[in-house]
Amino acid sequence: MIAAALERGVDVVGELELAWRAIPNRFLAVTGTNGKTTTVELLGHVYRTAGEPVAVAGNVGRPLSSLADEIDADATVICEASSFQLEDSVAFAPECAVFLNLAADHLDRHRDLAAYLAAKLRIFANQGNDDVAIFNADDAALADIDLGGCGRRVGFCHGGGPDCEVAVAEGTIFYDGEPLLAVSELGLFGEHNVENAMAAAAAALSMGLPREAVCEGLRSFAGVAHRLEPVGEIGGVRFVNDSKATNVASATVGLRAFEGGVHAILGGSEKGEDYAPLLDPVRERCRACYLNGASVGRLAEALAPAVVAGVELHLCEDLDEAVRLAAAAAQPGETVLLSPACASFDAFKNFERRGERFRQIVGTLA
Ligand code: ADP
Repeated sequence: MIAAALERGVDVVGELELAWRAIPNRFLAVTGTNGKTTTVELLGHVYRTAGEPVAVAGNVGRPLSSLADEIDADATVICEASSFQLEDSVAFAPECAVFLNLAADHLDRHRDLAAYLAAKLRIFANQGNDDVAIFNADDAALADIDLGGCGRRVGFCHGGGPDCEVAVAEGTIFYDGEPLLAVSELGLFGEHNVENAMAAAAAALSMGLPREAVCEGLRSFAGVAHRLEPVGEIGGVRFVNDSKATNVASATVGLRAFEGGVHAILGGSEKGEDYAPLLDPVRERCRACYLNGASVGRLAEALAPAVVAGVELHLCEDLDEAVRLAAAAAQPGETVLLSPACASFDAFKNFERRGERFRQIVGTLA
């Protein structure tokens, strides 16, 4: 139907665009391959901490269009925008847009990385001079390209640089050259979450929220379910649910969020991604990997060299077996981490169900 409409020159408008046209409020939109949900929920929390009216919607549960005629006129809409949604946008122009990062994902849908990037860049395309375009200046895919649109560029990065209003150096996050807060004060853990926190700080401060409220919100945010979510500790072994790590890049940061002693549960349905980038983090951080799901064969092949480095590889029937084996092998002080690097559709309705099943199995072990 869509192809036929396009052929006849009929406008095809996605839900994001339709909702944006119907809702006159200020918009703050977040895209990127990984970290969108964490960053929008963090921003929602920062706004609430500041006592500012806010509605969080988009690809995070509540459909954006359901806010039309429902929210207060002075509320800011914080929306998660996926590449699929942005691809079908026409005039969408959020007052503040955030582009977190770009890594290979969804290549089963987008032709190639260039097409995937082009879809995501729609977030900036229609911005005017008064709008703000926040981007990850450390991301090679974003650093040296024309981001498009006319929004004021605000970069965030490690170390600092001419484009970066927000930077992290020596364990402190800086805004405009002034210290904002220490990384150790953040409520979230993992290096990737420092980036999400910088992006959120850049957005909230650019939108005029007071510095103190932004810092307080960054300190008190406890994270989102299924994203490096601690679900229990049994006999000194930590169990962490990172079911939302549905691609190689997110599983990589998940594994690297731990110093070592990781029993990683990997595998699920295939998206055509190359698993080779998992090899280094597996060698560095894992004692063993428990592979399950449709991707077992390709994962085992990609991770075979880790065996030489002393990492055990176990091929498992399903998630249940993987968790039980990992729990039996893990020593006090170690971590059993579900960070699959794959989608869940081979065995579960979605990543939430997979994470809930993990939580449930851990519950039976206690
Ligand atoms: P998204 O909504 O973009 O899928 P989430 O916030 O749900 O992102 O996080 C999904 C997974 O991606 C997390 O479990 C974590 O492992 C990883 N992740 C989160 N933030 C980042 C980031 N800034 N860079 C890389 N990986 C990240």
